[in-house]
Amino acid sequence: MIELESYLNGEWKAGTGKKATLKNPATGEAVAETSTSGLDFAAALTYARDVGGPALRAMTFAERGAMLKEMSKALHEVRDELIEASIINAGTTRSDSKFDIDGATGTLAYYAGVGKRLGDRTYLVEGEGEQLTRGARFWGHHLLVPRRGVAVHINAFNFPAWGLAEKAACALLAGVPVVTKPATSTILPAYRLMKTLVDAKILPDGALSFVCGSAGDLVTHLGPQDVLAFTGSGDTGAMLRRMDNVIERSVRINVEADSLNAMVLGEDVEAGSDTYQMFIRHASREITQKTGQKCTATRRVFVPEAIIDRVIEDLGEALSVVTVGNPHLDEVRMGPLSNEQQHRDVRAGMAKLIESGCKVVWGDPEKVELIDADAAKGCFVGPVLLRNDAPGESTLVHELEVFGPVSTIMPYGSLDEAVSLVARGEGGLVASCYCDDKKALGQWILGLAPHSGRVLAGSKKVADQAISPGMVLPSCVHGGPGRAGGGEELGGERGLNFYLQRTSVQGDRALLDRVLDLKA
Ligand code: NAP
Repeated sequence: MIELESYLNGEWKAGTGKKATLKNPATGEAVAETSTSGLDFAAALTYARDVGGPALRAMTFAERGAMLKEMSKALHEVRDELIEASIINAGTTRSDSKFDIDGATGTLAYYAGVGKRLGDRTYLVEGEGEQLTRGARFWGHHLLVPRRGVAVHINAFNFPAWGLAEKAACALLAGVPVVTKPATSTILPAYRLMKTLVDAKILPDGALSFVCGSAGDLVTHLGPQDVLAFTGSGDTGAMLRRMDNVIERSVRINVEADSLNAMVLGEDVEAGSDTYQMFIRHASREITQKTGQKCTATRRVFVPEAIIDRVIEDLGEALSVVTVGNPHLDEVRMGPLSNEQQHRDVRAGMAKLIESGCKVVWGDPEKVELIDADAAKGCFVGPVLLRNDAPGESTLVHELEVFGPVSTIMPYGSLDEAVSLVARGEGGLVASCYCDDKKALGQWILGLAPHSGRVLAGSKKVADQAISPGMVLPSCVHGGPGRAGGGEELGGERGLNFYLQRTSVQGDRALLDRVLDLKA
């Protein structure tokens, strides 16, 4: 059994006491163990602030970008090893593992490009500034400088590699050291990733530390220059927001949480058309990719009442090719859920939705046919499609995120009704609408936007190009209002803002231009 360690104060350290066991969710076998008890997180944060911070701030954006590029390259070289770690610890198929690993290297490479573009500066100035009084000389600028603290990143179990890399890319490029804490149950790929980066000696000492297991008292040591970026369940996010030091010391916090993402099929779309086929393809992918364990996966599907039976038939047909079983095999399209708790939660969640009035119209919540796997040992469920004919009168279907390969299909009568049904989710990461009627498409986009961090507009001209709505791109913001946590990450250069202090500077325009090096 491998014993994993944390990387703190520039060295690998094992915790003491009771260890958490990481399992292979396809077989139930133990693959590694880890503990963080006894580790001094206060000292680790101080080390990151005092050693990693100055080293990063001394680098220009271009130099930090070059560092991210090296990180991306080093990880790409061990891609197969990372994929294997993901398969055995997260239960992801090769394709789903690649989604996580390539997402990590791709995001680092993307931010390497942002760093190159920002060039030989160590801070940013927004826009041209403004004249502040009648005289033309007294001028105001907005400066963005790296915070002097540390960024603590706490991530969910479903994207061990991408979650670590997407947050680290923005913080490191901004010039802020990181202490990253992936979820314990699927930490093996993140551990391998961290080992690779440490061995490659790409980062300055103290720039990236790694907590391998429970967070312990980590967050209690954060102060006014520090930031906390959290991804996970709404309950944990709310608990972190309520922590005394987070409130009293104004620790900047970003929360990415649960989401009941929705897809809507426009009234104008004919069954069988290109736009319709794209909708079916996207829905099927969103239900089954990563066994439905994506924060951006579609949980609610709204379709015009007149076409609901046809959609169920076509979506069922698309789902019928999804084979389930041993994630090592190429012929398997969907692996198990990532851990035993997830398995229990997904089954309990489906039972609650069914009890609340949803009917099973495709799949079986109790059993699934498996390829080369034992249902008694692994955390398997098959894709399940539910139907709810009274979404206006139902509550649970808009509230309960079942974090697995499960979606509920529901009818709507009008565009306004559909928008208000989507809004019942109280804030999502992504909503997608499929529509070719220009006027209606505008109404969909503007209706869905206040409730979603991202809107995908699927129409015939992009039917063969559009990515499915669950895919997060580094160039577009990720996050959403309300239940989704109210946070925002990525979005190109915007992703750096969380780590930078925006300060307005007022003074003599010519002097500021010189001092801030604005004429360069
Ligand atoms: P979780 O149970 O809230 O755990 C998330 C992270 O928080 C883990 O690293 C966990 O560590 C840590 N944690 C738990 N208690 C903590 C505490 N008291 N102090 C500090 N850290 C603590 O969520 P999950 O089960 O991993 O993830 C599933 C949820 O995440 C789903 O609801 C999904 O929608 C959401 N999610 C959202 C996004 C997004 O971008 N919006 C992305 C992915 C997932 P341990 O593992 O060590 O307990």
